[in-house]
Amino acid sequence: MERRPLIAGNWKMHLNVADSVSLAAAVAAGSRDLGDRDVMIAPAFTALAAVAEVLKGSSVFLAAQNVAWEREGAYTGEISPAMLMDVGASMAIIGHSERRHIFGEDNEMVNRRLLGALNSGLVPILCVGETLDEREEGETFKVLEQQVCEGLEGVPGDRLPSLVLAYEPVWAIGTGKTASREQAQEAHSFIRDVLADLYEKNLAGQVRILYGGSVKPENVDALMAEPDIDGALVGGAALKAESFDRIMHFS
Ligand code: PEP
Repeated sequence: MERRPLIAGNWKMHLNVADSVSLAAAVAAGSRDLGDRDVMIAPAFTALAAVAEVLKGSSVFLAAQNVAWEREGAYTGEISPAMLMDVGASMAIIGHSERRHIFGEDNEMVNRRLLGALNSGLVPILCVGETLDEREEGETFKVLEQQVCEGLEGVPGDRLPSLVLAYEPVWAIGTGKTASREQAQEAHSFIRDVLADLYEKNLAGQVRILYGGSVKPENVDALMAEPDIDGALVGGAALKAESFDRIMHFS
């Protein structure tokens, strides 16, 4: 099953509007020669509209770093799928480990966000991943299975191929520690098996599963060579045009 690679940059709570615009312009320029893969960037909410302008005419996808489940209403601090689409976003990161661990989002809330995004036409990137304690206690697969099953509750099979998943071991995010290519491939292949059990093998084979956790120019080629790794969700190394450019141009 051919899956089109996706290289995604998560800018987290970094960069003002002017710096976001110049980094987005560099990403758009650098991605012009890439016909065989997709590129996505997720600036802070405050920079989405300005970055959308810069990306016009490029093939770079614009994403939000989170999304509310309702269309509008009394949800102070939240941004709805319709609002995000209104400023030009077409994708949304959901269930990032920083949302889960710092802001207490659980699988149920992640699922609500995912359904809200999907039903509005935003492509969700569902993040899953175990902590170091869970890995050391041999619970990695149990945690991943629960996050995938509960995160996808209520998603019909025909919508599955339009979703993206990201395996992001929490111990590898922002720590400089990358999962080895073997560890990452093992987790990706397990997640694909969970999808096949939940839906069917053919549908599971169409879903892109990204790896995230200290992806850098030095390790991206090895990770991308693994059969079930379909792209990368990049934090720190996405904040510098040069390093993200090298990652987008993985071979
Ligand atoms: C992330 O933000 O999802 C991430 C993986 O960060 P980093 O690449 O810095 O580990």
